[in-house]
Amino acid sequence: VTFKDLGIVDVLCEACDELKWKKPSKIQKEAIPIALQGKDIIGLAETGSGKTGAFALPILQALLENPQRYFALILTPTRELAFQISEQFEAIGASIGVKCAVIVGGMDMVAQALTLSKKPHIIIATPGRLVDHLENTKGFNLRALKYLVMDEADRILNMDFEVEVDKILRVIPRERRTYLFSATMTKKVQKLQRASLQDPVKVEV
Ligand code: AMP
Repeated sequence: VTFKDLGIVDVLCEACDELKWKKPSKIQKEAIPIALQGKDIIGLAETGSGKTGAFALPILQALLENPQRYFALILTPTRELAFQISEQFEAIGASIGVKCAVIVGGMDMVAQALTLSKKPHIIIATPGRLVDHLENTKGFNLRALKYLVMDEADRILNMDFEVEVDKILRVIPRERRTYLFSATMTKKVQKLQRASLQDPVKVEV
């Protein structure tokens, strides 16, 4: 099976080639066709499985059809993960001119506000700092958001970001696609799943 077989367009297949992603990983094989059908996904997968590619490729493919700012929000528990995810989006999306913003704690709010004002397509954020910008950065809102990804949802919830995630869910459109990835399926994750996904398909590796 190739990325092309899964429905990925040539320009993104070429990007995978350049990254030496010779063939899709198991989670990519399962999740990408479902994502391209426009369905919500609950994915049980760990870091190292290629889950970032599993959500980045379908999101970038949708962005190609409809290039607009604040297209997708990726929530992650930690700064390190946020930068790793951003690197993968930028590597795959370089040839299509994707603009990413990493919005995490411990860094300058004003500089981040400036980055947001440049209308990135993809925002990769930790929940606390994103809420801070939603509440305090003039002109920034997520009313046009098309995709929400919650990556490592079990860790997000274990770090007590529940209130922040709820706040974010309240200010983004209902009409969107949502992908929730988690290494474990806890009670809290199930509750978040019910609050955020519509008729999801489960994928597991
Ligand atoms: P992730 O699980 O998303 O954190 O990805 C783990 C690592 O696998 C990253 O360094 C990716 O660049 C790499 N990777 C993702 N998909 C593939 C693939 N299909 N073939 C080879 N490497 C991949």
